[in-house]
Amino acid sequence: MSATRFEVAGVSVSPDHYIDGRRVTSDDTFTCVSPIDQTGLGEIASGNAAHVDAAVTSAAQAFPAWAALGAAGRLPYLQRFADAIGHRADAFATLESVDAGVLRSRMAHGVVPRAMQNITWFAEHAMTLQDRVIETPQARHLVRHDPAGVVAVITPWNAPLMLATWKIGPALASGNTVVLKAPEWAPLTSSLLADCAHEAGLPPGVFQLLQGQGSLTGAALVNDARLARISFTGSVATAKWIATTAAANLVPCSLELGGKSAFIVLADAELDAAAATAALMYRNAGQVCLAGTRLLVHADVARAFTDKLRAQVERLVVGDPRDGATEIGPIIHLRQLERVQGFVDRAVAGGARVLWGGTRHPFGTQYFAPTLLTDLCQHDEIVQQEVFGPVLTLQTFASDDEVVDMANGTDYGLGGVCYGDEAHAIALAQRVRTGFLWINSFGIRDLAAPFGGIKRSGIGREGGDWSFEFFCDVKDVVVPKQPFKASFSHR
Ligand code: NAD
Repeated sequence: MSATRFEVAGVSVSPDHYIDGRRVTSDDTFTCVSPIDQTGLGEIASGNAAHVDAAVTSAAQAFPAWAALGAAGRLPYLQRFADAIGHRADAFATLESVDAGVLRSRMAHGVVPRAMQNITWFAEHAMTLQDRVIETPQARHLVRHDPAGVVAVITPWNAPLMLATWKIGPALASGNTVVLKAPEWAPLTSSLLADCAHEAGLPPGVFQLLQGQGSLTGAALVNDARLARISFTGSVATAKWIATTAAANLVPCSLELGGKSAFIVLADAELDAAAATAALMYRNAGQVCLAGTRLLVHADVARAFTDKLRAQVERLVVGDPRDGATEIGPIIHLRQLERVQGFVDRAVAGGARVLWGGTRHPFGTQYFAPTLLTDLCQHDEIVQQEVFGPVLTLQTFASDDEVVDMANGTDYGLGGVCYGDEAHAIALAQRVRTGFLWINSFGIRDLAAPFGGIKRSGIGREGGDWSFEFFCDVKDVVVPKQPFKASFSHR
């Protein structure tokens, strides 16, 4: 390991890439800044074309042996990888709260255990995958999943550890080698992941980490024609660029993108429960792709629901994400905060009414007050575009047909929430065009279940068998049942 490590809140972090089993420095660097108080945390390596080339070359060289190990051979490595994450649970929680503003308590109790599961669940699940056998009178078809090769994983800043492991777990478990490009606004926990891979003894080249800017390091990675897959989570604009570039090399992409999901409250909903769940949409300062940020409330219950939600919001504690009492932390970056304020200001200028919030929160420079806007039209920018901040909109409806049109009336189609009588809500779910919909609940995600969006929210599904479908090539091994006689007339 390089001697250039530095300390952040008592945690030792390497600023370097991790290529071919060792730390690699860069002449170029960028400054990592904490969203809590804008303190500079350290200078991070910025990858160039040579680093990308080295990482992909090493991953390509490591691929045959890693693939040949089989799921059983890979299992102990991946268990050790997950254990190494567990050994650093405190360090991961500290770093991601300082670097990305994620609640420390949420990291410790939710994200770190889930990150470990993201590795172990897929490693164990890979053991259960069998060839599918198709019997025909002519032949037996052994349909198997072969690892695809070198996988590029590109992740955003809002949940760096969770999203990296969610992709790395199945990619490695199915026999691929990985090049992870970390998010430049929150690069530190990805660096700890490389420490974990090293401690777990993953063979050199099986897992690589590149630090750097998306437009430089990320772009150079996506341009590499040796990639077998690109798994991307991030914005629609970046996804379009990645998909276009990957198309030139015919590299398949999985794209998990933004959302503008509906939170539907039917007239028969249990309003206390609905309001308590709606308040969760402010979680992570609203920087959550799957949040139901458009509250669509039946007109008959809109007043009562809004009063209950206001009471919930008044109790929310905005503060330092390292403090156990805090429920809403900072916005990741000053640029993102200005973007959020811009959305609100334009909405208000266009006639929207602020029910609460609407401005920065006094706790600190990068904090935005939980906000609710109403008096909106479906075509308003704030109803159509993802804000990615603690800003919800409220519209009312009078019939199922109307709310279905409103729910479906954006370019996005990631998820949604529906509170109401269960049978009524399930019937409505058939008509809402999204990748998933939570009924009288929010955020239940099982690793066995598919995850992803439609329309501008993405292409492809990850999770469970769907991850293996993406990270593998399907091969049909055909074994004839009678001796094969070669003939030009044979079909
Ligand atoms: P972003 O698209 O700006 O960046 C995401 C990643 O892509 C970063 O690592 C960045 O460095 C990299 N990147 C940027 N330009 C690139 C390029 N030209 N080539 C290769 N890589 C490039 O997104 P962001 O602002 O970091 O993240 C916020 C977005 O992510 C929101 O839209 C949010 O909804 C979305 N998101 C979606 C999900 C999901 O599962 N659907 C989950 C979390 C976040």
